Amino acid sequence: MATFKAMVVEKTETGTKAGLADFDDANLMDGDVTVRVEYSCVNYKDGLAITGKAPVVRRFPMIAGIDFAGTVESSSHAAWKPGDKVIANGWGLGETHLGAYAEKARVKGDWLVRLPSGLSAREAMAIGTAGYTAMLSVMALERHGVTPASGPVAVTGAAGGVGSVAVALLARLGYSVSAVTGRPEEGDYLKGLGASDIVERAALSGPVKMLAKERWAGGIDSVGSTTLANLLSMTKYGGAVAACGLAGGMDLPTSVAPFILRGVCLYGIDSVMCPLPRREAAWRRLETDLDRPKLAAMTREIGLSELPDTAAAILAGQVRGRVVVKIG
Ligand code: NDP
Repeated sequence: MATFKAMVVEKTETGTKAGLADFDDANLMDGDVTVRVEYSCVNYKDGLAITGKAPVVRRFPMIAGIDFAGTVESSSHAAWKPGDKVIANGWGLGETHLGAYAEKARVKGDWLVRLPSGLSAREAMAIGTAGYTAMLSVMALERHGVTPASGPVAVTGAAGGVGSVAVALLARLGYSVSAVTGRPEEGDYLKGLGASDIVERAALSGPVKMLAKERWAGGIDSVGSTTLANLLSMTKYGGAVAACGLAGGMDLPTSVAPFILRGVCLYGIDSVMCPLPRREAAWRRLETDLDRPKLAAMTREIGLSELPDTAAAILAGQVRGRVVVKIG
């Protein structure tokens, strides 16, 4: 029996439990490409899956992990051959399909994106789903026509994974970035990534006015709830907000006022089922538009055995930037 190491989530009588286990090769799910996984990372959803705090995992036993970078070992898919370097984000990995925290993954070739030649597997997972989502959010603002000349852009949850990459990308593209954070002690870190000013989380977590003073031409929000509602009320006439997260809650206590009186647009960002051409475009942009020393500065590395502690920390809002997981 051939086995490999994996972080496996099992169902228990009271909920779920996650732990390192030897996984039998024969139990890999169907797919036309088998990948030797080199790196994965820790995203907020991985925290939910490992701790069992939300019903992210919908099949048991499940190998957790929503994204990976690695090398194709075998393939019957026309686009892929052994030795190809690939990235996978979402598509149900770690939720309905055996995921990334394992030495091996078998997936559909249609889910894979070619690793851009200018990125290493480790860099791709330092970016990970959080960073790719930040890029999708920036692209939504660009499609709307928000440019550096439109005015400053706010990033909420700025010291987290999506937030850190969004701050670095926007700054590199020439935007003036307000980093909204509940961790003012991370002000120097955020300025190092390119933030022009640091805004206390409290400025966007109070009671929501239908319309507040116009402050930002655009926003990238990974927090949701009252924070997103306040951000909408502070968005300038004709501006746009890209909503991608729920770290502060799933609800949205807003009114139609920002939309019908200021023509503000709210863009929904989904990384999981995002069509391939847009994924490929996002990864090409990440290769060229993300400053590598800044990526390195926001990243730390762990091994598979450190996942449970890191999962709890990310849900507690204690992880700064990005965490890559070295596999194998
Ligand atoms: P992180 O935990 O790294 O970042 C979230 C940040 O939000 C925290 O660092 C913190 O930033 C802030 N935050 C946490 N709790 C609260 C709170 N109660 N109120 C206000 N702010 C809070 O997670 P990720 O960056 O990996 O993910 C961020 C969000 O984006 C998650 O909800 C995740 O599910 C979502 N996401 C969605 C995707 C999609 O496809 N739509 C893909 C990837 C992520 P600070 O300390 O600076 O305030």
